[in-house]
Amino acid sequence: MAESLGSRMVSRSSVYVTAPWGHTDQEDFYNAIIVAEDPSWDRWAWLDFVQRCERNAERVRQRHWGPRTLDVDIVSCSDAGEQLTSSDPNLTLPHPRAHQRAFVLVPWLEAEPAATLLGVPLSEHLDALPEGERAGVRRLCDQTEWFV
Ligand code: AMP
Repeated sequence: MAESLGSRMVSRSSVYVTAPWGHTDQEDFYNAIIVAEDPSWDRWAWLDFVQRCERNAERVRQRHWGPRTLDVDIVSCSDAGEQLTSSDPNLTLPHPRAHQRAFVLVPWLEAEPAATLLGVPLSEHLDALPEGERAGVRRLCDQTEWFV
């Protein structure tokens, strides 16, 4: 995915490993954040792109919250510097649970330290989470390609 983004990629985080949500009998999850930019792409073009990446990874999901090869979500999307908000179920922005998920906030803070979510700095969202959740997100390696 990082490959096909080419010059659209602005920055990316390390890969982080997190114990699974939902069924806890699964493998750990690997998470990373990519910050990307293309003034000629609107949010629907980005949704097409992430869905193509998932298809290309031959994503397989047999059950809800079950194991997936690759899950790419759009956490936040900005247009002309304004963070877009939308409750459209096909593309909800910002991602509705992002501010409560340490596995989103920790890598995002690394990739874009000055970012805000819902008008609040990422570090403040993180501070509001239970310590155990933040500690559960461990930096694994710095190669995003490793898992995409
Ligand atoms: P999931 O695979 O569970 O992440 O859900 C995929 C579905 O969520 C697709 O039908 C998308 O259209 C929809 N969706 C809604 N909001 C978003 C978002 N912010 N990023 C990615 N997919 C989204």
